[in-house]
Amino acid sequence: MIDIKKIDQAQAEILKRAYSNKQLAHSFLFVANDQTIAINTAFWLACLYNCQGENKPDGTCQNCQQILSGNHPDVLTVQLDDRQSLSIDQIRPLKEELAKSPVESQIRFFIIEQAQTLTLSAANALLNLLEEPIAPVVTILITNNLDQILPTIRSRTQIFKFASEASLSGSKDSLLDSGFSADEIDNLGDLTKLNQSIKYFYEEICEQNDLAIVSAYKLASQSQSPELRKYILFRLKYLAEQDLHHDDKRITGMHMLKYLMDVDKMNLSNVSFKNLLMYLALQGKR
Ligand SMILES: [Zn+2]
Repeated sequence: MIDIKKIDQAQAEILKRAYSNKQLAHSFLFVANDQTIAINTAFWLACLYNCQGENKPDGTCQNCQQILSGNHPDVLTVQLDDRQSLSIDQIRPLKEELAKSPVESQIRFFIIEQAQTLTLSAANALLNLLEEPIAPVVTILITNNLDQILPTIRSRTQIFKFASEASLSGSKDSLLDSGFSADEIDNLGDLTKLNQSIKYFYEEICEQNDLAIVSAYKLASQSQSPELRKYILFRLKYLAEQDLHHDDKRITGMHMLKYLMDVDKMNLSNVSFKNLLMYLALQGKR
């Protein structure tokens, strides 16, 4: 669900200033590990343009509501659906759309999710659109991997890198997609502190720091409930996956994912949670 309260405030501030000064770019590339935050921020921007309220964007006026429910005729989204990639058939209609005049507003918004999955032909069609839009349009591409975006597209967009810390507060919506039930998420409580401890633990393992052993004990004693234990392993995997997106950390991330898969197997054979974490803490030593 789109929630324009859950956005990256720092980036939104920059966008708002550019908008007020009428200096907003026409194409953006939002790079974010947390896609939900980036998508919300893209919709927030579309609302900012179209909002009829005083406190723009209020998210409550008719225009905002239409946008947020996905029913605004001038705000179009391209999504993966069930496929592996975004095809040219999904990009072509955008161009056709531009040939008509906007239905309700002065400008259109194209929001393209998972832009790293654009096929080459789709990317080229999009490039065309970015180069010579035949009508006013703001195109926002969203990706979790800048490396997989064609350099020609990168150079034609204004790149916004969302801080990964933005997701540290633990966007709980994304947990639902990751195999946690609503009850489990409720029971987890506030994750801010725990996320910080998990992050330290992860870094200590990677740095082969002896403190990892201390942290393993601490984390184990803090995680009394099954959902907390499940969450800690989930979060460690998340951190490892993040590392895969950075050239200098890719190898570390791959190693950590392998250890975490070992841990999953051990978990099935009833190894205590403390021992699982100890296993991880000692991996850095190898
Ligand atoms: Zn509004």
